[in-house]
Amino acid sequence: MLAQASAMIEAWEGRFGAVDPHPASVADPEVLAGAWDRFTERMGDHYPFFHPRYAGQMLKPPHAVAAAGYLAAMLINPNNHALDGGPGTSGLEREVVDELAGMFGLTAPWLGHLTSSGTIANLEALWVARELHPGTVVLHSEQAHYTHGRMCQVLGVQSRAVAADAFGRLDVDAVEAELRRGDVGTVVVTTGTTGVGAIDRVQDVLELRERYGFRVHVDAAYGGFYALLAADDGAGAGGTAGVAGAPFRAIAACDSIVVDPHKHGLQPYGCGAVLFADPAVGALYRHDSPYTYFTSEELHLGEISLECSRAGAAAAALWLTLQVFPLRGPDEPGLGAMLAACRRAALALADALRDDQRLALLLEPELDIVVYHPRRGSLSQIDTASAAMLAAGMAGDAQDPVFLSSLRVGEAVFGPGVARDADGARVLRSVLMKPEHELRVDWLAGRLRELAP
Ligand SMILES: *Cc1c(COP(=O)(O)O)cnc(C)c1O
Repeated sequence: MLAQASAMIEAWEGRFGAVDPHPASVADPEVLAGAWDRFTERMGDHYPFFHPRYAGQMLKPPHAVAAAGYLAAMLINPNNHALDGGPGTSGLEREVVDELAGMFGLTAPWLGHLTSSGTIANLEALWVARELHPGTVVLHSEQAHYTHGRMCQVLGVQSRAVAADAFGRLDVDAVEAELRRGDVGTVVVTTGTTGVGAIDRVQDVLELRERYGFRVHVDAAYGGFYALLAADDGAGAGGTAGVAGAPFRAIAACDSIVVDPHKHGLQPYGCGAVLFADPAVGALYRHDSPYTYFTSEELHLGEISLECSRAGAAAAALWLTLQVFPLRGPDEPGLGAMLAACRRAALALADALRDDQRLALLLEPELDIVVYHPRRGSLSQIDTASAAMLAAGMAGDAQDPVFLSSLRVGEAVFGPGVARDADGARVLRSVLMKPEHELRVDWLAGRLRELAP
């Protein structure tokens, strides 16, 4: 595909005639070779994110199709800020955002665009919330991504964290207690928490909206693409490979949605998205720019985005990827089939750990994140043993390395048999976000058992 990418660039250049580079911008071959050697060495200093051995954080390389699309478009380097900057890729962006909206069941008209990250996408949604309901409070779960508290601070908006239940989901009774105070303008729900992949019950929050009236913002940065499996309604916990359907189906009735194609959409970093149910929020973005000259009357994406320059290559890569792996359910080739493999991997690992002698499953996975810990009598012992296991798996001299991540959790999620000698403990966390994990899950379970101290 690299050859196709360079053929594409050559054809493009050919239309206007080739341009010889200025001597000042020609790299010295020897300098380049030396720099490349040092670069290669530095790049070797990464964990093997591509490999099933890497069962730690939310990290994996983009799909080869996305990489090819990104690279080819990046060589042209369109800027989706204005139609003049990226006429071709602006069109691709509109199409992919349309596909994302369709995945969530949004009914037109709606408004949306890509962003450089989930953080920026959430910032935009919270900014719109503030503009529409100034002076009100944003509620989010204590398990919501920390970005909500921080971005509220940036926006000068008051935010309050409410308790999560024993599954790590937003406690809807706690939300109602806060709503009775009368100052809440927006409730953030998360469909797939970053820590454990818990799915807030969006449908229950929507019921509260009928009575109390507030905006509902869905942070589906991590879990959003699992909407493709929601029709199955396996409801998690030991069920089929589906996911709880009702929360995902309820997203269509919410006010704003964030999803990160650079997490489960096979994309390289630099690709988030925000969607608004009401296209009228576009008016809030209105601005005048003396820099941007408009060659058409059509809507420029920069007119509905807080960011200015944005990589058209991100839209191109996502578009090409979705042509090859469409947003459809698990029974046909496409993204859903890949997510179903991740989900099955998580369920298989949970099954293997549930009744293990040495390891304990902390929570039934709702998506593809499995949290577990060595069995010990107290929280402080669990903490120490988890840290030791993490280090042993990725030690430089490990024969059969495995790369995990750790997560600090509060004492409330542990069962009654554990002495509370601390307010929480570190446990182990494996994000099984590569379909290839399904093919190696027996190995992974076996390796974890061997490593359990
Ligand atoms: C990753 C994540 C974010 C932040 O998104 P970035 O793309 O890392 O900026 C926000 N919310 C949730 C639920 C996430 O998983």
